[in-house]
Formats: sequence, structure tokens, C-alpha cells
Amino acid sequence: MRADILAWSVPVLFAAFGFCFLLLSRLHRSLLWWSAGFLVAAVGFAITVLPTAPGSVVKPAGEDTLFLIALALANAAFAARAGRRPRWWLLVAIAALGSAGAAGGLLLFDGSVLHEVMAVQTACAGLMLLSAVEMRHDEGRLKPLLLGLCLLVAISLGFQNALLLAAPPEDLTVSNWRETAWGFVFQLNGAATGVLIATAVILTTTFDVIARLREDAAVDALTGALNRRGLEQAVDAMRRSAGPGRPLALILSDLDHFKSINDSFGHEAGDAVLCGFAALCAGLAGRGGCVARIGGEEFAIVLADADLVAARRLAERLRLAVAEVRWPGQLTDLRLTSSFGVVEMGEGEPPFEAVTRADALLYQAKSEGRDAIVVAAPVAASVVAPTVLALPQRIRMLTR
Ligand code: GH3
Ligand code: MG
Ligand code: MG
Repeated sequence: MRADILAWSVPVLFAAFGFCFLLLSRLHRSLLWWSAGFLVAAVGFAITVLPTAPGSVVKPAGEDTLFLIALALANAAFAARAGRRPRWWLLVAIAALGSAGAAGGLLLFDGSVLHEVMAVQTACAGLMLLSAVEMRHDEGRLKPLLLGLCLLVAISLGFQNALLLAAPPEDLTVSNWRETAWGFVFQLNGAATGVLIATAVILTTTFDVIARLREDAAVDALTGALNRRGLEQAVDAMRRSAGPGRPLALILSDLDHFKSINDSFGHEAGDAVLCGFAALCAGLAGRGGCVARIGGEEFAIVLADADLVAARRLAERLRLAVAEVRWPGQLTDLRLTSSFGVVEMGEGEPPFEAVTRADALLYQAKSEGRDAIVVAAPVAASVVAPTVLALPQRIRMLTR
């Protein structure tokens, strides 16, 4: 009786994991596959608790098939984590082979479970190895844990098969299998593997959610640019990777007469322009730079390893690019301009002190008539005339 209660606790535990993952499935698509896998395994474990008639083939083969389906679903979950489509044809082939091998073993060897167990465990190991292959593409922080777990399970199944081959137990039948030491060890291993995998899934999901929340907390929801907090983190990271003594430059840009877009075309059109402008800034800043939305229509671009000349050149490219954008829909006739303040960031200078300095220059650009770039000293605090110069001309001017 006590033994039965203990035996039933395994399917109950698996079912509990399955329902938990179902409830959490909004967090990540892979949790739906995990849920299905654990629920199928729960049914498999529940059936193993029921007594098996001597010579029965259907019941043990059915259990094996359910465990193989559960591992195929786990593989789909691993693939979903890694952003890949499951290789269903391969999964079905391995599960079908394992299932057929298990049933064939029981039929051909007169109810001996030895060949059945070997066939099903080999197929399970194959599915876990395939999961390890999918995990190569995972980009989560706990990738080594999941990858290691897949390999560990595959190796432990292989090891069990080797033990069975080395010392094949006698008189293992489907009806006495569950009571034998072998049956106990194998079932315990299956249950422990499930608990380990469930724990790893819970851990990785928690880490993923924390990472996503951190990212969201650093990003402006409308434009996808960084927010103030994100700018501080990005500048720290840029300083760390550039090393001491490497200059960082900050360009503060503000769309001219942006309010009139809201007034004339509505807030949604204004939002679309903000998103377009942020994308333009990000495109020009490139991978080494970063873009942050400082306020309404004010964006800061930080460039790594860039002095004032390089930053001014980029601001000029951005100024021309903004003027040349052909906005879609009702904004098709819109011609936008933007003003800029450019500073070199002091070593260790907090980003917002640099923004404040750049803001004063931006204010100067606005008062000089807009569509202009004002650069801080030591490059003379000159105002780039609002006349639009072609970029090659300007570069020639700067290098002369
Ligand atoms: P200036 O050339 O002096 O920069 O004039 P401006 O009209 O661009 O600047 P002003 O500061 O007068 O107006 C900024 C406007 O930006 C006012 C505000 O309604 C609008 N704004 C701020 N945030 C958002 C937003 O998220 N979406 C939209 N559509 N508009 C915004
Ligand atoms: Mg403005
Ligand atoms: Mg503004």
C-alpha cells in the first residue's frame, strides 16, 4: 500500500509540472511543449503503476510509446527555446523505431523485458542527443546547464544499457519487472531525470524572464531606442570594451517643429515619425554605437572611439538623411529637419552631464535658426550653417 502511494507520487508530480508549465506558457512558447511532454509522461508513469498481466505486450509497449512521445515533445520544447522548428520526421522516426523495437523484443523473446528496455532506452538516448543538437542554437544564459543535462541523460541511458548487456538479469518478465531491483533503478532514474529537467526548465524560464524585464526596463517602449537607464548601462559597457583613454562622443538631436506634426496630422503620425527617426539614428550609429530617447523628440547617439570630428561627420550625415526621408502615407509631403549638439564625453563623465552640455549646444543650434549642428570646444564652438551641403563637400572641408 505504502509502496503504491510512493509509486503514484511520480505520475502526480509529473502531472503537476505539466499543469504548471501550461499555466506559465504565456511566458514562452516552449513551455507549451514542456507541458505536453510532462503530461504525456505522467500518463506513462501512471500506467506503469498498474499491474501487468504475464505475457502482456500492449501495456508495456504502450508505456514505452508514451515515454518516447514525451521525450519527442521535450525535444520540440528545446527546439522552440533555440528558436528552431522541431525536426518532426526525425523525432517520429526515432520514436517509432524505439516503440517497434520494444514491442518486437517482447514478442520475439517471449515476454522478456531485456530487449524491450534496451530498445526503448536507446531510442530515448537518441532523442536526448537530438535535443543537445538543438540546444547548440540556444542563446539563453543557462544554455550550458540544459546542454549538459541532455548529454547527461543520454549518457546515463547508454550506461544503463551497457550494464544490462554486461550482466543480463535472468527471469525479467513484464509482470515482475516493476518489483525487481533493475526495474526500481530504471524507474527511479526516469523519475529523477524528469524532476531534474523540470527544475532546469523552471530555472531557465526564470532567468529568461528576468533578462527580458531588465531589457524592457532599459528600452523606450515606443521607439525601441534605449531610455535613460539604458543609456547609462550602454555607456558603461562601451567604456569597458573600448578601454581607458578611448574617446566617446555624444550627439544630441532634436526634431525641429515636431509639435506641428502632432497638430497637423495627429499624435499617431507623430509617433510614426519618432519611430522612423529612432531607426535612422540607430542605422547610422551602427553596431558600435547606441541610441537613447532622452525626452519627447530628443535622441542621444553615443559613438565609441569617436572624436569630435567623427561625431560631427555623423551628425551631418544624419542631418542630411532626415531632410531626405520621404515619409509614407499622409506625411508624404513632410520635409523634416533636425538640430544637433555634439560633445566629446570626458573620461568617466556621467552620460547625463554630457547630455546637459550637448543640450546647451542644441539650444544654440535652435536659436541660430535650426537645421544646424553646433560642436563643442576644442573643435571651435562653430555653428554649422543651416545651408545643406552635400556630404562629400563637407568631408573635403573637414579634411582640408
Ligand atoms: P523645436 O523646433 O523648438 O524643437 O520645436 P518642437 O515643436 O519640436 O518642440 P516642442 O518642445 O515645442 O514640442 C515637442 C512636442 O513633442 C510636444 C509634445 O506633444 C510632443 N511629444 C512628446 N512626446 C511625444 C510622443 O511620444 N509622441 C508624440 N506624437 N508626440 C510627442
Ligand atoms: Mg523639437
Ligand atoms: Mg524637444
